[in-house]
Amino acid sequence: MTARVLVVDDIEANVKLLQARLMAEYFEVLTASNGPEALEICQRGKCDIVLLDVMMPGMDGYEVCKRLKANRKTAHLPVIMVTALDQPSDKVKGLEAGADDFLSKPINDLALQTRVKSLARLKMATDELHLRVSTGHELGLDNISESNIGLPSDHAGRVLVVDDRAPSYEAMVSALGSIHTVTVVTNPQEALFRAADESFDLVIISLAIENFDALRLCSQLRSLDRTRLVPLLLVANEGDEASLIRGIDLGVNDYINRPVEKNELIARSKTQIRRKRLNDQLRESVQTTMEMAVKDSLTGLNNRRYFDSHSENLINKAIVGEKPLSLVVFDIDFFKNVNDTYGHLAGDDILKNFASRLNKNVRSEDLACRFGGEEFVIAMPETDVALAYVVADRMRREIAAHPFLIDGGKQQISVTVSAGVSSLQGRDDTIEGMIKRADEALYQAKRSGRNQVIADAA
Ligand SMILES: [Mg+2]
Repeated sequence: MTARVLVVDDIEANVKLLQARLMAEYFEVLTASNGPEALEICQRGKCDIVLLDVMMPGMDGYEVCKRLKANRKTAHLPVIMVTALDQPSDKVKGLEAGADDFLSKPINDLALQTRVKSLARLKMATDELHLRVSTGHELGLDNISESNIGLPSDHAGRVLVVDDRAPSYEAMVSALGSIHTVTVVTNPQEALFRAADESFDLVIISLAIENFDALRLCSQLRSLDRTRLVPLLLVANEGDEASLIRGIDLGVNDYINRPVEKNELIARSKTQIRRKRLNDQLRESVQTTMEMAVKDSLTGLNNRRYFDSHSENLINKAIVGEKPLSLVVFDIDFFKNVNDTYGHLAGDDILKNFASRLNKNVRSEDLACRFGGEEFVIAMPETDVALAYVVADRMRREIAAHPFLIDGGKQQISVTVSAGVSSLQGRDDTIEGMIKRADEALYQAKRSGRNQVIADAA
């Protein structure tokens, strides 16, 4: 994984040092020596992560961070504050400015790599979501937007703490308990079961569990389907570096050193939970995007796009298998009058109800679609024109016999439907030809007084 990291520091030697260390890890590095310059680079969308020195003349790091987070174009850029002193008060100030993480000078190599990688993953997830939103627009799916896909807000998550020492887990519960729902498990084996059974947004594991290799739990969590995506945060002691490096190889997302500093734990947890939420939503949005592309949002039936991409296949199968194929086009009678008289909500109720009745009357191999407006089409494989007529007429009678409820069930209206039927005519026939003949039959049904089915005579 690579990312473009912007290093901001007023002292050139610091910039050079960080630059060399990040480049050794194959990150691309950009540099700035003051706040305004950094803001400009971010504004131009040149970087993925910002490593921001706090102490700078003129505009300090807190101010730069605040401005980045206040600007819509740069608010999603992860910011790591680099503080000279490891002071809790600095972290509080940083958190208030919107910082995503902290590093204190002198910067430890493992810390640098882990933080930058962790935030690069977060940035990738955010970018991917933005991309999906714009792809949705290109597909003409205007109801996909950032607001309804919902860029995650920082609301409460479910956190599992695996630690067997009371003072240690009590401190974590006290730090996170007011924001998240925290579950403590002291037995690692139980932790694995709980994590697989319940859905947690973050698992925090102490490396120092008595008589147990915590990394084994990490590896088990990473190998189970139910838990392989849950963020893992290790709690380490001074001198645990070798274990940490192994943990990170196993897929641990981040770590925190003892003594656990409250604000650092809050910030780390927040980053991991946000990334998990983003990824969850990404997966859901892919699902939604695919469904929206082929489903009619009002009735849940397949849409014209779906029909167009599948009808070719149906016709080929019929021709190759020398089987009949029929098409019925339904059109609700006087639908405009319903909308004019009872309003569009009533019209929508009727369309939805019609679609669900249609769905009940088709076989699973039939392809039922809403073509648009009040027009519906069913393609029926292995069905000749006579049988298609029978099915369509049964549907017509069912619609006419049972009035539709509107206005939350308070009123009912009688509705009728007309239909035209066509069938595949030889090897040179096309789906367009079939639709055209069914449409002509439908037109005849409308002209002859509606509430009837007419089959194409070809
Ligand atoms: Mg400085």
